[in-house]
Amino acid sequence: MLNSIFPNACENCGELFFFKTQNYFCDKCLSLIKHQKTFYCRSCGDGVTNCQRCLSNRFFKDIQVYTKYSPPISKIIHELKFNKVKTMSKIISNIIADDFKRFIKTKNITKVIYIPQSKKLEKSRGYNHLKEILVELVPEFMIFEGIKKIKETRMQMNLSKEERETNLIGAFDIEENADFKNQNVLIFDDVLTTGSTIREIFKLIKDRHINNIYGYIITKS
Ligand SMILES: [Zn+2]
Ligand SMILES: [Zn+2]
Repeated sequence: MLNSIFPNACENCGELFFFKTQNYFCDKCLSLIKHQKTFYCRSCGDGVTNCQRCLSNRFFKDIQVYTKYSPPISKIIHELKFNKVKTMSKIISNIIADDFKRFIKTKNITKVIYIPQSKKLEKSRGYNHLKEILVELVPEFMIFEGIKKIKETRMQMNLSKEERETNLIGAFDIEENADFKNQNVLIFDDVLTTGSTIREIFKLIKDRHINNIYGYIITKS
């Protein structure tokens, strides 16, 4: 109740605003977040324009990134991921909804995989932030739960390019009864840097008679 009487300072611009659905970010800052062209390889996700890695061997059929990893969206993701502000998932899903749904439709996606986190992390966070965003965007039956994280790894964000590649080796596994046959699979993540995370999931599932594998990432750092 107090929030509707007294204004709050926006976490992004510092301006005072009145609480509507959440009291972290003002409408003006939220309205600034738009789809933005970023540079990365649409096959492997690496942050390069002429990707040598993909000349002879293609990874993903296509990868779509919504926008740049910069404020305010980077702050919204941070609140959701590290400060347990679960309501931020709805803000993010609202922002990407049109673009995400268009991608799902044009590519005829039938299953969506979000990057799993370890049991330990999920317990301390209370949720998987990517799943919280996804449930607002696609029906539950499309969300594929067949991937698990089996190894504790260091935060990709804090590592060098070389370390990122090795940090995730053997980190994920497929559930025993998981079936991807003839599906068009989309791998969903929040931040794309070198693409090593989504490629690790790609490698894990690529020989499972899948039609096509796509990627959708909210931001590019
Ligand atoms: Zn603001
Ligand atoms: Zn590439």
